[in-house]
Amino acid sequence: MTKVYTNAHIFTGEGEIENGYIRFSDEIIGVGKMEHYTKQVEDEEADLRGHFIVPGFIDVHSHGGYGVDNMDADAGKISDMTYKMLEEGITSYFPTTMTQSDENIEAALKAIDKAASMNPMIQGIHVEGPFISKKFKGAQPEEYIRVAQLDTLKKWQELSGERIRLITYAPETGEVSEFEEYCQDNDIILSAGHSGATYKQLKESKATHITHLFNGQLGLHHREIGVSGYGLLEDGVSVEMIVDGFHISEEMVKLAYKTKGADGIQLITDAMRAKGYPEGESELGGQKVIVKDKQARLSNGSLAGSVLTFIDAFKNMMTFTGCSMLEAVKMSSFNQAKEFNLASKGQLNPSFDADMVVLDEDLTVKQTILGGNINEFN
Ligand SMILES: [Zn+2]
Repeated sequence: MTKVYTNAHIFTGEGEIENGYIRFSDEIIGVGKMEHYTKQVEDEEADLRGHFIVPGFIDVHSHGGYGVDNMDADAGKISDMTYKMLEEGITSYFPTTMTQSDENIEAALKAIDKAASMNPMIQGIHVEGPFISKKFKGAQPEEYIRVAQLDTLKKWQELSGERIRLITYAPETGEVSEFEEYCQDNDIILSAGHSGATYKQLKESKATHITHLFNGQLGLHHREIGVSGYGLLEDGVSVEMIVDGFHISEEMVKLAYKTKGADGIQLITDAMRAKGYPEGESELGGQKVIVKDKQARLSNGSLAGSVLTFIDAFKNMMTFTGCSMLEAVKMSSFNQAKEFNLASKGQLNPSFDADMVVLDEDLTVKQTILGGNINEFN
């Protein structure tokens, strides 16, 4: 049996079909306009009139949710938590670690490797810190911050089953050229973040990605455009954005969209343990966090990750900037798949994985399909 969804508004990644069909098993078999559709004997049809179908979202920066943090280093819990993200429309996930002792980071990397061996959603690991700037630490605990150490990273890459694909670092904190070369040779994208680097320092670095643009970095100044300015200005540099309305003001989100364009932006959640749970007390990196009014903060008032769901980031981006849904799709999956070479993800075209989200006209997630398996939500 193959499934066919008919009469849907389909976003294939780079394009859209207003009244189309999509035929799939575990991968996409065919997609096109309804006028070109002919039912085959093996087809099991469902009419999706009034619905949108978009590629499954890819979150490259998130620490956890649903009561679990990757730093808990529990493979079973990490895998279960990842499946809960289907409800937000996420089908690919890069579990993100944070600044901690070597022992804790190593335990987390091993657990994520184990989780990834049983969970098809996990596509790589994002190591956020500890090679960052104390001055721009945000919610990363200061006592574990240090200069970039190549030997340590090599060891971690091995322990993780070679799954590290993204590292947040501060290029200005020490001699990093060998560290950067190793990353480039091993398919690890270098992301400047929690960094006070100047534009000049970044031009000399090999960073091609910016961790949560505007947050935890040297911001825009008219004589020194810093990390944020570098991210906005340089072609070939992708920027992550936390579009929850708290980490970045609506106007700044709009300014970034107008400057950078949809092709250079990747929505992330940077979610922490409390996402999907009632508000109240929680924890991040061994620090107490209070979640109130959809904001997670340390006792000093610093934002401590988010409780943002991916579908809300997707909707907020359109509301704040007026961007088209096709552009929101690019910022939610297509761009990530391209940058991280996820060859079968981020598009709904033949031979791509059947990873997709069905949204109703209010953009509520009705179904998330992972490798052809349908998960229904209300
Ligand atoms: Zn983070």
